[in-house]
Amino acid sequence: MRIRYSEEQVVWLEVPGETTLAYTITGCTVGCRGCHSVETWPAHRGEILSERYLAAQLARYRGLITCVLFLGGEWYPRQLLQLLKQVKNEGLKTCLYTGLESIDESLKEQLDYLKLGPWMAERGGLENRGSNQRFINLRTGMTENYKFWS
Ligand code: SF4
Repeated sequence: MRIRYSEEQVVWLEVPGETTLAYTITGCTVGCRGCHSVETWPAHRGEILSERYLAAQLARYRGLITCVLFLGGEWYPRQLLQLLKQVKNEGLKTCLYTGLESIDESLKEQLDYLKLGPWMAERGGLENRGSNQRFINLRTGMTENYKFWS
C-alpha cells in the first residue's frame, strides 16, 4: 500500500513559530473514540504522496514554508522515513502528529517536532492544560504544550 493524503494545506497554528505545509495521511489505525477524522481511516482514500509530488510541492513553496507536518503516516514507517529525509534535505523542519504514545527512533531522528498521544475527548487537545497529548521539541527534548495555551 502506498502512502496517501486526503488534505494538503499551509497552516500556522499546528507547529508554533513555523509556516507549515501539512499533509493529512489516510489509513489511521489508532481508532480513538470520538475521532473527528473518521473519513480519513480508509487507507485507499486520497492521493498517493509520492516523492516526486512532494518534491514539486517543496519547490512550489520554497522560501514560503519552514516546516512540513505529517498528520499520521507512522503506519508506513519506511515510506514516511523517506519523505522525512526528503524534507530535511531541503533544509526544512519536520513534524509528526501521531495518536500513538511512542514511535520508532529512526523516525524521531528525522523529526524536529512530535505530537504524541491519542484523542481523549475528556482531556481535550493541546490547547487544554489537562490534555494527555504532548507536543515535544525533539531538538531540545522539551515538552512545549504551553505554546498552545492562550
Ligand atoms: S490518531 Fe487522530 S486520526 Fe487516528 S483515530 Fe486518533 S484522532 Fe483519529
